[in-house]
Amino acid sequence: MFENKPQSAGKQPSLCSCSLPSDPKDATDYRKMYERVSKMASIGVWEFDLLRHELSWSDAVYDLFEVPRGKAITRCAAVQFYSGESRIEMEALRAQAIESGGSFSIDIKVTTALGNLRWINLTADVEQENGISVRIFGTKQDITERKRAQEQVKHLQSERTHTASRAAMGSIAATLAHELSQPLACIVSYATGTAEYLKSVQIPAPAAIGLREIEVNALRAGDVMRRMRRMIEKGRGNSEPFDLTTVLKDAVIVACPPSAKVSFKLQFGHSGTVAADRVQVMQVAVNIIRNASEAMEGSRDQEIFIATHEEGDFIIVTIADTGPGLPADLNLFEPVDSSKAGGMGIGLSICRTIVEGNGGKIWALSAASGAQFCFKLPKLDGSPG
Ligand code: ADP
Repeated sequence: MFENKPQSAGKQPSLCSCSLPSDPKDATDYRKMYERVSKMASIGVWEFDLLRHELSWSDAVYDLFEVPRGKAITRCAAVQFYSGESRIEMEALRAQAIESGGSFSIDIKVTTALGNLRWINLTADVEQENGISVRIFGTKQDITERKRAQEQVKHLQSERTHTASRAAMGSIAATLAHELSQPLACIVSYATGTAEYLKSVQIPAPAAIGLREIEVNALRAGDVMRRMRRMIEKGRGNSEPFDLTTVLKDAVIVACPPSAKVSFKLQFGHSGTVAADRVQVMQVAVNIIRNASEAMEGSRDQEIFIATHEEGDFIIVTIADTGPGLPADLNLFEPVDSSKAGGMGIGLSICRTIVEGNGGKIWALSAASGAQFCFKLPKLDGSPG
């Protein structure tokens, strides 16, 4: 390892002169052993002379960064391998260690000279002479595999949490669907029967409209329940081609009665046809619009902006409001997270299940000017763009 280091200004960098046994045979054995251990652990040694500004690497460090062994390397060039964030964090720790004569350890994301991404663990220790920091040295170890394994465990854990919450949500929705189907059927048949009975009597038009609305909305609620139940059973919705803008306009009417203080601004880029479950998509839009209007209660300006645009094979729907924005500490799309006194916190979680079950994605952004929800659905082939 030691022969290949850059030789600078005719002086042996001190990495060569670590305390090796004085007997040349022992020293060779020692080096061999060092080489093997270093290779086994993917760990290398580095040193920086703070007075001469000279950097030295062992062969293992050259290999780690995929730089030809022995090539002269400056500290400035070396830190270019570190990703921006890691570099800033490392520089702060280094400055602190030099100041105090201390040590530190940090995991750093690097891009090697050949463009490969790796994770390394860097340890450093500062040596002082008469209270002055003169040398900083340590190890660099390839921990890419360990990091990958950690990422995988994290991913599996989050998937498990996600699956568990979906299962919990599924059973809540299935119970609701089961329990509510009976009273909903009753509402429909009483509303229909009463309307039929009152046909012979002259009743005021608003009362007749009211009865009709009770019937229509109870039927709609029953439809939502049935589809939700089917989706939970089958894991997906009932896909059909439909015009997204029409469904969004209907969602506005269902979510906000005309008497509400909220004003709407609709901007539909085109009449896009999507392939998804129409009733479920309407449910998603209604939930987002209702949340927006509830969030704006008490605000002076209450405006909801709804737009669609096309991006690749998808149509993206944006629903933005002029409310206070999203609470920072909430896992919006996880069940049972709600900031409302009577909120169940499952609306957005159901929205995510629906959108993903229909081949799309949902996400949210928060700004000082309000909250913005977006979801995208697959565009039907050949639909106008
Ligand atoms: P719920 O409405 O029952 O609380 P949701 O899952 O629909 O359940 O919403 C979860 C939470 O997300 C709400 O309690 C609220 O805190 C937050 N939220 C959703 N939409 C908005 C919005 N437009 N502005 C601010 N907060 C919102």
